Formats: sequence, C-alpha cells, structure tokens
Amino acid sequence: MPIAPTPPKLCYNEAIGLAIDRQLLARLVSRITLAPGAHEQIPVFAPFTATELGRIPAGRECDAEAAVAVARAAQPAWAALPFAGRARIFLRFHDLLLARQDEVLDLIQLETGKARRHAFEEILDTAVVARYYSRHAAHLLRPRRRKGALPLLTKTYELRSPIGVVGFIVPWNYPLNLAVTDAVPALMAGNTAVLKPDPQTSFTALWAVDLLLQAGLPAGVMPVVTGEGPVVGPAVGERVDYLMFTGSTRTGRLIARQAADRLIGCSLELGGKNPLVVLADADLEAAVDGATRGCFAGGGQVCVSMERIYVDQAIFQPFLAQFVERARNLKLGAALDYSVEMGSLTSGRQLATVEDHVRDALEKGATLQAGGRRRPDLGPYFYEPTILTGVRPGMKLYAEETFGPVVSVYAFATEEEALQLANDTPYGLNASVWTRNMRRGAQFAARIRAGSVNVNEAYAAAWGSVDSPIGGMKQSGLRPRHGAEGPSAG
Ligand code: NAD
Repeated sequence: MPIAPTPPKLCYNEAIGLAIDRQLLARLVSRITLAPGAHEQIPVFAPFTATELGRIPAGRECDAEAAVAVARAAQPAWAALPFAGRARIFLRFHDLLLARQDEVLDLIQLETGKARRHAFEEILDTAVVARYYSRHAAHLLRPRRRKGALPLLTKTYELRSPIGVVGFIVPWNYPLNLAVTDAVPALMAGNTAVLKPDPQTSFTALWAVDLLLQAGLPAGVMPVVTGEGPVVGPAVGERVDYLMFTGSTRTGRLIARQAADRLIGCSLELGGKNPLVVLADADLEAAVDGATRGCFAGGGQVCVSMERIYVDQAIFQPFLAQFVERARNLKLGAALDYSVEMGSLTSGRQLATVEDHVRDALEKGATLQAGGRRRPDLGPYFYEPTILTGVRPGMKLYAEETFGPVVSVYAFATEEEALQLANDTPYGLNASVWTRNMRRGAQFAARIRAGSVNVNEAYAAAWGSVDSPIGGMKQSGLRPRHGAEGPSAG
C-alpha cells in the first residue's frame, strides 16, 4: 500500500462537528440580500464526510433584482469617496484576513475538501491582491495626458470612470480568492459589485464579505445573492453593467452570449488543459517537485493545474520513476491542520468525471503508473494522485479538462515536437517549462500559446505576480485580470 494515510486528528464526523461554529454560519446567512418571501434551502455538504454543513437560501430572480438594486443605490456615494478612503478599507481587510486566517481556513477546507496548505494559498494571494490595489489603484487609474490632434492647440486626456454595478459569478475551487480578488480592483475603481458564489462554497464567500464589512466597506457596496447558477446567474447578468465570470468554458459561452445580447462588457476566466514541459537540461529533482505541486495541489482542482507533462526522451525514464515515487508517497487525509499533502475532491460530480476519464483511457490502452483508485477509507470523494502514460488522441484524458489529480506523461524527441504538443489544445490558460538555461526557457515560453507560462515553476510565480495581467488565450478566456487590466474590469 504505497500511500500512507495520515492518522486523523479526530474522527471525521466529530472533527466537522467541532469545527463548525453554527452561530458563525447563521451570521453569514444573515448577510445575504433577499427579497421578501419564503426561500427554499440548499443543503451544503462537507466533502470530507458528505455530511451536511449548513443550508443557504435558494435565490430567485427577485433576489438577484434586489441585490442589484442595493448595489446600484450604493454606487454614487461609493464612487464619490477618494481613493485613499477606499484603500484604507482594503488595507484593514488585508490585516484582518491575516489575523483571522484560521477561521476561514477551516471554512475553506470544510467546503472544498482541500488540504490546509492549499487553502492557505488563498489567504496569501487575497492579502497580496488587496494590498497591491490599495497601494497602486490610484496610480493605475490616474488621468493620462495623450498626444493631442494638433499639438499646442489641443490637449487630450484619457480619464477612467466607473462602469456602475459589476456582477461577479465565481466557482467553488478557490472560494475565498475568487470571491474577493477581482472585486477589489473593480471596487477601488468606484464600481459596486454583486457577488454570486457557487452554492457549494457560499459560506466562505459570505465570510469574506462579512470581513470586508468589518473592515469598513459600506453596506450595499457588495451584496451577495446565493442560489443555483442557472437560476441566479442569468438574473444577475440581466441587470448589471459588466459581468466578470470565472468558471467552466461551457458556462462562459452562456455568459458571453448574454453580455452580447445586452451589449455589456464581460471578462471570462475559464478552463484549461495545461502543459508542463521538461527540457533535457532541467534540474530533474526540481522538475519532479514542481510537477508534483502543479498536478496535485488542491487535488488538481485548480484552473492552472498541470494535466499534461512532456519530458525529453533523454530523461523520460528517470523523471517518470521519481514522479511516480513522489505521487505514491503523498500524504492524503482530511485533517484540519498542515499535516497532509493532498485533500479530497470537492464533490461526487468531480469524482465521477475523474473516474470516467481514467476508465476511458485505460479501456483504450493507456498504462496506469500510479494511483487510479478512490480512497473511501479516507472520505467519500478521495482519489489517489494518478499518473498515466500511453494516453492518445481519442481518449478523454488527452484533450478534455479533468479537473482532478490526474496527469498524462509523454516523451518527446525534439523541442519543436514538445512545442507542437504543448500547443495542441483548444485551451490556453497556463503552462510551465523546466530548464537550467533561463534564456532558452524564456524563448520556449514565448512560443507557447497560453496566457501565462512559468519557467521553473508550475503556476504560483505567474499567478502571484499581481502587477502583471494574467488570463486565458483561445477557449480559456477573454480579457485578463491583475495589473492595470484589473481595475479596467470596473
Ligand atoms: P461552472 O461554470 O459550472 O460554475 C461557475 C459559476 O457559474 C458558479 O457560481 C455557478 O453557480 C455559475 N453558473 C452555473 N451555471 C450558470 C448559468 N447557466 N448562468 C450563470 N451562472 C451559472 O464551473 P465549475 O465547473 O463549477 O468550476 C470549475 C471550472 O472553473 C473549471 O473549468 C476551471 O478550470 C474553471 N476555473 C477557471 C479559473 C480561471 O481563472 N481561469 C479559475 C477557477 C476555475
């Protein structure tokens, strides 16, 4: 038995029972903007046990309407505040977030099933983004002098003004980070926001908004409407002035159609099938380490996760042997502390997709090198870190996003072949290349058709560089986030 399960800190049900603060959940639910009338309730299940964590109201069209009305009414006064006044709120939010991280780390883990170390990435990134825009938004959005039509006779200035109410529709995989980090620049630009989180992770999103209110965000600047995506999402999209969507390419197309019909702008941050390329001169140990993090962080449920690895044939065998060894020895578990290296998948739906993709590949002749099994002894949705070789076109794993701890490894003969394989995808979100020669790495990176390419890192280096815009090419998105592009979403 290669995977050593971590002894649980407490029996799972007991652990969840102890971790949930019912009063906190009730306070968070009271933050939801609701129109009058009775609401059906959506149960939220903790992936570690599939037991009920709490319930959130199933929003209706009238609730979305109420939330947008609240945000619209709050917008003029919010936009009238000077930048410094808005920045103070997000700096206080930054401090409060770091001080109270344990509370939300528990909540993120309970709603997503991810390991604490991966939940912590959300804290770090959210704090960094809040600080970056607090300090830089005024400069990024300043009026700029442009060349006039007739120099000396005309003067031309480019001014940036808020769009109005921005709708944020966000997924479950980074529930704190994605609820806040795109909203911060839009709010700094003087917009107000309506947030529609995924039903699976609404408590984390509500916690973040509750903390913003404690940091001084005026009521009404960021109302939250909860509920099922196909019900509440379009109702928000029908009323806001701009849509910022993060989620699947499938839903992204619906959002784009709605934005087109209404002639409003939209930003789309969508799926990927991200490649990691190991060149012959790479530091093998570092590449194995990077691949392990890049493929299995968050159980592979990270938009920028690696799902395809291409290795120079000269080092293919040693790379594969070391990578398989690392994957087999990752510590899986449900502990609400830093003792484990990979958590659970978030839902039965994710587990079904993962099992379907692996089964399909094996039936069509792929070879299993590691994993390939559920781990019900750890929790209902645990799945082992899984590595396959011999994956070919025609198998689901070859081209479709799996969004789980599953990766296919291939050998290549030349760099041109590696490049062609890396680019052989309808997606273009993130990529990674490993080499000891940074110049060679940068040249190779520039030829990959992806919104971000990390050299000697999997995803954190590019994602964490908040000063630089980042987004998807091809079917991975439209318009980037971060940097000066972030505020322009507002
Ligand atoms: P999803 O598209 O099913 O859901 C995302 C959000 O859209 C949720 O809030 C959901 O309730 C809502 N929604 C669902 N149907 C809707 C509809 N008809 N109209 C409006 N809103 C609707 O996405 P998912 O599968 O739950 O999330 C995982 C996907 O998100 C993966 O493909 C992943 O790659 C992607 N993702 C991308 C990024 C990025 O930055 N590019 C980040 C995180 C996740």
